[in-house]
Amino acid sequence: MQPSVTSEESANPNSLPVRFVFRCIGCGLVVHAAEQDFRCSRCGNLLEISDPSWTAGSLHPVALKSLWAQRRTLNESIDLSGVWRFRELLPQPASEQSVVTLREGNTPLYALTRTARATDVQQLYAKHQGLNPTGSFKDTGMTVAATFARQAGYRWVACASTGNTSAAMAAYAARGGMRSLVLVPEGKISWSKLSQALDYGALTCQLRTDFDGCLRLLQELVRSAPVYQLNSLNPFRIEGQKTLAYELLEQLEWQPPDHIIVPGGNLGNSSAIGKGLLEMRDIGLIEKLPKLSVVQAEGANALVRTLREGGKRLVSVQAETRATAIRIGSPASWEKAIKVLQSTGGTTEEVSEIEIAQAKAEIGAEGIGCEPASAVTLAGLRKLLLRGFVSRDEIVVLVLTGNLLKDPDFTMEFHRGELFSGNEQLNAYRHPPVVLDASLKAVIQTLEQAEKSAAT
Ligand SMILES: *Cc1c(COP(=O)(O)O)cnc(C)c1O
Repeated sequence: MQPSVTSEESANPNSLPVRFVFRCIGCGLVVHAAEQDFRCSRCGNLLEISDPSWTAGSLHPVALKSLWAQRRTLNESIDLSGVWRFRELLPQPASEQSVVTLREGNTPLYALTRTARATDVQQLYAKHQGLNPTGSFKDTGMTVAATFARQAGYRWVACASTGNTSAAMAAYAARGGMRSLVLVPEGKISWSKLSQALDYGALTCQLRTDFDGCLRLLQELVRSAPVYQLNSLNPFRIEGQKTLAYELLEQLEWQPPDHIIVPGGNLGNSSAIGKGLLEMRDIGLIEKLPKLSVVQAEGANALVRTLREGGKRLVSVQAETRATAIRIGSPASWEKAIKVLQSTGGTTEEVSEIEIAQAKAEIGAEGIGCEPASAVTLAGLRKLLLRGFVSRDEIVVLVLTGNLLKDPDFTMEFHRGELFSGNEQLNAYRHPPVVLDASLKAVIQTLEQAEKSAAT
């Protein structure tokens, strides 16, 4: 018998009533234990975690909303986590103490008022996942996956990464008393992200290949060594990342926005957010589904191309973009993402390097720093408006996936004018540092000049 969440039980935040199974997204096979590669033993497609009891109506939406709100006033570490606060909709850990957490989630939702005016959208918000403990949304998935890795008794966890996954994995492995193995492409990774993995004690291997090469090698490794893979192929990560949707809707008083726009790399995050949205609708937490759209860099546009060619077969690309977090040519979760686009009525878009740089500076000028990969959302919104896919009276949420401090080189090169130096239009967005003699006169002159150019 599944215990249900009733108003009586909502007084007891310790109840963890949910059971789960793995289900293949291709052939629908249901299993209770997954292989090391998290693929279906029958058809090879990816597995997802599902709970058959939900559709049987075991969860009461009003009781859930008040239970989750109530937990924000509690001080147990499992309640302070913006992921585990929603644990009725997550796989159930052995005990509350077994959860590996750094107080992830609970990230702010900002109104982007100036950018809304500049793009002529009435209501524009940014959900800033870059304010997670290690600076990206990867933490929300890692808390769940690391918890189950430790529970399964693994000593080693491993991932292939463009940087943020390794930073998050290394931190959560360290918190959970596990060792971590990081496979990153040599070069093409920001020092900020790499330095996090080093500091958190990961065994870090810089491989002479790209991200896709690192991921392929990891797939071979997990079949021949007792390491637990923490890439987003791992469905426990998807479970953690889907809580963004719950948290966002809670922040919007359970009134769904019209549109959520997400950057697409390996496509785990868009799959996760979509899964969260669909579950909310099925449980009755929301009545209307927001459209979820995915934006990629032109140089790493595998999903865009795949859909252009019918969506039945993955069209891989040789990925190239300065937005290194989405520099991925063969996204693992492409089929999951396509299902989400289809069921929410969203679309895909691609944006140029120049559009990314401008969008990042515009978000920055609102006092909100994000990394280049996150800025594709604003650049993509502009194009969706031009296409007429988004209309100006809609409520739009941009998911900012990573923190500004993740890639300071990009930001410095942009403002110093080294990035796209020939581009006149970008100059309006650059704020280069000024080198002066240490005299009062020089500073006042510079101040006056700045005031004059702001006035014109
Ligand atoms: C990982 C990451 C992405 C891409 O997410 P996927 O799940 O791989 O599609 C985008 N932005 C940032 C900052 C990331 O760290």
